[in-house]
Amino acid sequence: MPLPSMKDVEPRELTLETEFKFRCHKGVKCFTKCCRSISILLTPYDIVRMKKRLGISSEEFLDKYTYMEFDEKSSHPLVRLKMLDDNEKKCPFVTPEGCTIYTDRPANCRYYPVGQGIMRKGTNDEPVNVEFYFFIKEPHCLGYQEDADWTIKSWKDDQEVSLYDDMNREWKEIQLRRDPFGKNLDSNKQAQIYTASFDMDRFRRFVFESRFLDIFDIDKEEIERIKTDDVALMKLGFRYVKYLLMLEETLKVKEKYKKK
Ligand code: SF4
Ligand code: SF4
Repeated sequence: MPLPSMKDVEPRELTLETEFKFRCHKGVKCFTKCCRSISILLTPYDIVRMKKRLGISSEEFLDKYTYMEFDEKSSHPLVRLKMLDDNEKKCPFVTPEGCTIYTDRPANCRYYPVGQGIMRKGTNDEPVNVEFYFFIKEPHCLGYQEDADWTIKSWKDDQEVSLYDDMNREWKEIQLRRDPFGKNLDSNKQAQIYTASFDMDRFRRFVFESRFLDIFDIDKEEIERIKTDDVALMKLGFRYVKYLLMLEETLKVKEKYKKK
Protein backbone atom coordinates (compact mmCIF):
# COMPACT_ATOMS: atom_id res chain seq x y z
CA MET A 1 0.00 0.00 0.00
CA PRO A 2 2.81 2.55 0.48
CA LEU A 3 4.35 4.42 -2.37
CA PRO A 4 7.56 2.40 -2.53
CA SER A 5 11.00 3.91 -2.78
CA MET A 6 12.94 2.56 -5.75
CA LYS A 7 15.10 0.40 -3.46
CA ASP A 8 11.96 -1.50 -2.42
CA VAL A 9 10.85 -2.24 -5.97
CA GLU A 10 11.98 -5.49 -7.50
CA PRO A 11 13.09 -4.80 -11.08
CA ARG A 12 11.44 -7.70 -12.83
CA GLU A 13 8.89 -7.78 -15.60
CA LEU A 14 5.70 -9.34 -14.27
CA THR A 15 2.66 -10.74 -16.01
CA LEU A 16 -0.71 -11.84 -14.68
CA GLU A 17 0.71 -15.38 -14.56
CA THR A 18 3.80 -14.48 -12.47
CA GLU A 19 3.86 -16.62 -9.31
CA PHE A 20 4.80 -15.54 -5.79
CA LYS A 21 4.41 -16.65 -2.17
CA PHE A 22 2.75 -14.29 0.29
CA ARG A 23 0.30 -14.30 3.16
CA CYS A 24 -0.87 -11.51 5.40
CA HIS A 25 -2.82 -12.32 8.55
CA LYS A 26 -3.24 -11.23 12.15
CA GLY A 27 -0.61 -13.74 13.33
CA VAL A 28 2.33 -12.15 11.46
CA LYS A 29 4.73 -10.21 13.68
CA CYS A 30 4.57 -7.23 11.35
CA PHE A 31 0.76 -7.01 11.43
CA THR A 32 -0.30 -3.41 10.54
CA LYS A 33 3.33 -2.20 10.33
CA CYS A 34 2.69 -1.37 6.68
CA CYS A 35 -0.10 1.04 7.67
CA ARG A 36 2.27 3.64 9.15
CA SER A 37 4.36 6.43 7.76
CA ILE A 38 3.32 5.78 4.20
CA SER A 39 2.35 7.75 1.17
CA ILE A 40 -0.85 6.52 -0.48
CA LEU A 41 -2.10 8.14 -3.64
CA LEU A 42 -5.91 8.15 -3.67
CA THR A 43 -7.89 7.82 -6.88
CA PRO A 44 -11.32 9.39 -7.43
CA TYR A 45 -12.98 5.98 -6.98
CA ASP A 46 -11.07 5.35 -3.72
CA ILE A 47 -12.55 8.59 -2.39
CA VAL A 48 -16.09 7.76 -3.53
CA ARG A 49 -15.87 4.44 -1.65
CA MET A 50 -14.18 5.78 1.49
CA LYS A 51 -16.42 8.79 2.02
CA LYS A 52 -19.51 6.60 1.53
CA ARG A 53 -18.13 4.07 4.02
CA LEU A 54 -17.55 6.84 6.57
CA GLY A 55 -20.93 8.48 5.86
CA ILE A 56 -19.42 11.92 5.30
CA SER A 57 -19.31 14.40 2.42
CA SER A 58 -16.42 14.49 -0.03
CA GLU A 59 -15.50 17.94 1.30
CA GLU A 60 -15.29 16.64 4.86
CA PHE A 61 -13.33 13.59 3.74
CA LEU A 62 -10.80 15.63 1.74
CA ASP A 63 -10.41 18.16 4.51
CA LYS A 64 -9.95 15.65 7.32
CA TYR A 65 -8.08 12.77 5.69
CA THR A 66 -6.10 14.04 2.72
CA TYR A 67 -3.67 16.59 1.42
CA MET A 68 -3.21 17.83 -2.11
CA GLU A 69 -0.10 18.14 -4.19
CA PHE A 70 0.64 18.89 -7.83
CA ASP A 71 2.28 16.41 -10.16
CA GLU A 72 5.73 17.75 -11.03
CA LYS A 73 5.46 17.01 -14.74
CA SER A 74 1.80 17.58 -15.58
CA SER A 75 0.90 20.05 -12.76
CA HIS A 76 -2.35 18.07 -12.32
CA PRO A 77 -3.70 18.06 -8.74
CA LEU A 78 -3.26 14.77 -6.85
CA VAL A 79 -4.59 13.64 -3.48
CA ARG A 80 -2.79 11.62 -0.82
CA LEU A 81 -4.02 10.06 2.42
CA LYS A 82 -2.87 12.10 5.44
CA MET A 83 -1.22 10.11 8.23
CA LEU A 84 -1.94 10.95 11.87
CA ASP A 85 0.33 13.48 13.51
CA ASP A 86 1.57 11.01 16.14
CA ASN A 87 4.99 9.42 16.72
CA GLU A 88 4.28 6.51 14.40
CA LYS A 89 2.53 8.52 11.69
CA LYS A 90 -0.20 5.91 11.58
CA CYS A 91 -2.92 5.70 8.96
CA PRO A 92 -6.10 7.18 10.50
CA PHE A 93 -7.95 3.92 9.74
CA VAL A 94 -5.61 1.40 11.33
CA THR A 95 -6.22 -0.21 14.74
CA PRO A 96 -4.42 -3.14 16.42
CA GLU A 97 -7.15 -5.36 14.86
CA GLY A 98 -6.41 -4.13 11.36
CA CYS A 99 -7.99 -1.78 8.85
CA THR A 100 -11.34 -0.38 9.98
CA ILE A 101 -12.44 0.33 6.41
CA TYR A 102 -11.08 -2.95 5.01
CA THR A 103 -13.82 -3.66 2.44
CA ASP A 104 -13.50 -0.08 1.14
CA ARG A 105 -9.72 0.30 1.44
CA PRO A 106 -7.95 2.10 -1.43
CA ALA A 107 -6.68 0.29 -4.53
CA ASN A 108 -3.02 0.67 -3.50
CA CYS A 109 -3.74 -1.07 -0.19
CA ARG A 110 -5.56 -3.88 -2.01
CA TYR A 111 -2.68 -4.47 -4.40
CA TYR A 112 0.10 -4.51 -1.77
CA PRO A 113 2.67 -6.17 -1.92
CA VAL A 114 2.14 -5.85 -5.65
CA GLY A 115 2.43 -2.40 -7.18
CA GLN A 116 0.62 -1.41 -10.34
CA GLY A 117 1.24 1.38 -12.82
CA ILE A 118 0.45 2.53 -16.31
CA MET A 119 2.82 3.90 -18.93
CA ARG A 120 2.67 5.20 -22.46
CA LYS A 121 4.32 3.28 -25.25
CA GLY A 122 4.03 3.49 -29.01
CA THR A 123 4.43 6.66 -31.00
CA ASN A 124 3.00 10.16 -30.55
CA ASP A 125 0.52 9.39 -33.35
CA GLU A 126 -0.39 5.97 -32.04
CA PRO A 127 0.17 5.90 -28.29
CA VAL A 128 -0.60 2.70 -26.40
CA ASN A 129 -1.25 2.67 -22.65
CA VAL A 130 0.32 -0.35 -20.99
CA GLU A 131 -0.51 -1.47 -17.44
CA PHE A 132 2.33 -3.10 -15.54
CA TYR A 133 2.99 -4.72 -12.15
CA PHE A 134 5.94 -4.89 -9.78
CA PHE A 135 6.71 -6.36 -6.36
CA ILE A 136 7.20 -4.06 -3.39
CA LYS A 137 9.62 -5.77 -1.02
CA GLU A 138 9.99 -3.77 2.16
CA PRO A 139 12.17 -5.12 4.97
CA HIS A 140 9.41 -4.89 7.60
CA CYS A 141 6.95 -6.99 5.57
CA LEU A 142 7.25 -10.66 6.57
CA GLY A 143 4.38 -11.84 4.38
CA TYR A 144 6.83 -13.17 1.77
CA GLN A 145 8.06 -15.75 4.31
CA GLU A 146 4.59 -17.29 4.58
CA ASP A 147 3.60 -20.32 2.53
CA ALA A 148 0.69 -19.39 0.26
CA ASP A 149 0.88 -19.49 -3.53
CA TRP A 150 -0.46 -16.78 -5.78
CA THR A 151 -0.27 -15.49 -9.30
CA ILE A 152 -0.74 -11.77 -9.87
CA LYS A 153 -4.15 -12.64 -11.33
CA SER A 154 -5.32 -14.77 -8.41
CA TRP A 155 -4.06 -12.07 -5.99
CA LYS A 156 -6.07 -9.44 -7.85
CA ASP A 157 -9.17 -11.65 -7.72
CA ASP A 158 -8.70 -12.31 -4.01
CA GLN A 159 -8.28 -8.62 -3.23
CA GLU A 160 -11.22 -7.64 -5.50
CA VAL A 161 -9.11 -5.03 -7.18
CA SER A 162 -10.25 -5.43 -10.80
CA LEU A 163 -13.31 -3.25 -10.21
CA TYR A 164 -10.95 -0.54 -8.92
CA ASP A 165 -8.79 -0.94 -12.03
CA ASP A 166 -11.86 -0.49 -14.24
CA MET A 167 -12.97 2.58 -12.31
CA ASN A 168 -9.48 4.12 -12.19
CA ARG A 169 -8.31 3.42 -15.74
CA GLU A 170 -9.74 6.55 -17.37
CA TRP A 171 -8.40 8.80 -14.61
CA LYS A 172 -4.95 7.20 -14.80
CA GLU A 173 -4.90 7.69 -18.56
CA ILE A 174 -5.70 11.39 -18.05
CA GLN A 175 -2.62 11.63 -15.80
CA LEU A 176 -0.47 10.45 -18.71
CA ARG A 177 -1.80 13.15 -21.04
CA ARG A 178 0.63 15.96 -20.34
CA ASP A 179 0.76 19.24 -22.19
CA PRO A 180 3.17 18.52 -25.08
CA PHE A 181 4.68 22.00 -24.64
CA GLY A 182 5.28 21.40 -20.93
CA LYS A 183 3.03 24.28 -19.86
CA ASN A 184 1.73 24.30 -16.30
CA LEU A 185 -2.02 24.50 -15.72
CA ASP A 186 -3.28 27.78 -14.30
CA SER A 187 -4.66 27.72 -10.75
CA ASN A 188 -8.27 28.11 -11.92
CA LYS A 189 -8.01 24.99 -14.08
CA GLN A 190 -6.23 23.08 -11.32
CA ALA A 191 -9.08 23.94 -8.93
CA GLN A 192 -11.72 22.80 -11.43
CA ILE A 193 -9.88 19.54 -12.11
CA TYR A 194 -9.51 18.90 -8.37
CA THR A 195 -13.25 19.38 -7.82
CA ALA A 196 -14.34 17.31 -10.84
CA SER A 197 -11.96 14.48 -9.92
CA PHE A 198 -12.12 14.23 -6.15
CA ASP A 199 -14.83 16.38 -4.60
CA MET A 200 -18.07 14.82 -5.87
CA ASP A 201 -20.45 16.69 -3.56
CA ARG A 202 -19.03 20.06 -4.59
CA PHE A 203 -18.93 18.98 -8.24
CA ARG A 204 -22.62 17.97 -8.05
CA ARG A 205 -23.51 21.45 -6.76
CA PHE A 206 -21.43 22.98 -9.54
CA VAL A 207 -23.24 20.90 -12.20
CA PHE A 208 -26.75 21.65 -10.90
CA GLU A 209 -26.32 25.19 -9.60
CA SER A 210 -24.14 26.79 -12.29
CA ARG A 211 -24.88 27.15 -16.03
CA PHE A 212 -23.19 23.77 -16.70
CA LEU A 213 -26.40 21.98 -17.80
CA ASP A 214 -27.46 25.00 -19.81
CA ILE A 215 -24.16 25.07 -21.72
CA PHE A 216 -23.46 21.36 -22.20
CA ASP A 217 -25.76 18.89 -23.89
CA ILE A 218 -26.10 16.12 -21.30
CA ASP A 219 -28.48 13.22 -21.78
CA LYS A 220 -31.65 13.39 -19.61
CA GLU A 221 -31.08 9.92 -18.15
CA GLU A 222 -27.53 10.84 -17.19
CA ILE A 223 -28.78 14.00 -15.47
CA GLU A 224 -31.16 11.87 -13.39
CA ARG A 225 -28.39 9.40 -12.51
CA ILE A 226 -25.84 11.96 -11.40
CA LYS A 227 -28.31 13.48 -8.92
CA THR A 228 -27.58 10.60 -6.55
CA ASP A 229 -25.00 8.28 -8.14
CA ASP A 230 -21.41 9.29 -7.27
CA VAL A 231 -19.85 6.84 -9.74
CA ALA A 232 -21.91 8.24 -12.66
CA LEU A 233 -20.96 11.75 -11.51
CA MET A 234 -17.28 10.75 -11.29
CA LYS A 235 -17.43 9.55 -14.91
CA LEU A 236 -18.97 12.86 -15.98
CA GLY A 237 -16.15 14.50 -14.03
CA PHE A 238 -13.56 12.61 -16.11
CA ARG A 239 -15.25 13.86 -19.30
CA TYR A 240 -15.23 17.41 -17.96
CA VAL A 241 -11.52 17.14 -17.04
CA LYS A 242 -10.69 15.91 -20.56
CA TYR A 243 -12.71 18.79 -21.98
CA LEU A 244 -10.88 21.30 -19.75
CA LEU A 245 -7.52 19.86 -20.78
CA MET A 246 -8.68 19.95 -24.40
CA LEU A 247 -7.76 16.29 -24.82
CA GLU A 248 -10.99 15.22 -26.52
CA GLU A 249 -14.38 16.72 -27.31
CA THR A 250 -15.96 14.74 -24.51
CA LEU A 251 -18.78 17.23 -23.88
CA LYS A 252 -20.97 18.84 -26.51
CA VAL A 253 -21.72 22.54 -26.22
CA LYS A 254 -25.36 23.30 -27.06
CA GLU A 255 -25.99 24.85 -30.49
CA LYS A 256 -27.06 28.22 -29.06
CA TYR A 257 -23.61 28.66 -27.47
CA LYS A 258 -21.57 27.66 -30.51
CA LYS A 259 -19.70 30.43 -32.28
CA LYS A 260 -21.33 31.11 -35.64
S1 SF4 B 1 -6.52 2.35 4.52
FE1 SF4 B 1 -6.49 0.48 5.74
S2 SF4 B 1 -5.13 -0.92 4.64
FE2 SF4 B 1 -4.74 1.15 3.87
S3 SF4 B 1 -3.06 1.97 5.10
FE3 SF4 B 1 -4.95 2.59 6.09
S4 SF4 B 1 -5.39 1.01 7.59
FE4 SF4 B 1 -3.86 0.17 6.17
S1 SF4 C 1 2.71 -9.12 6.13
FE1 SF4 C 1 3.23 -7.25 5.03
S2 SF4 C 1 1.22 -6.55 4.31
FE2 SF4 C 1 0.82 -8.01 6.00
S3 SF4 C 1 0.72 -6.78 7.85
FE3 SF4 C 1 2.85 -7.46 7.65
S4 SF4 C 1 3.80 -5.71 6.61
FE4 SF4 C 1 1.62 -5.50 6.27
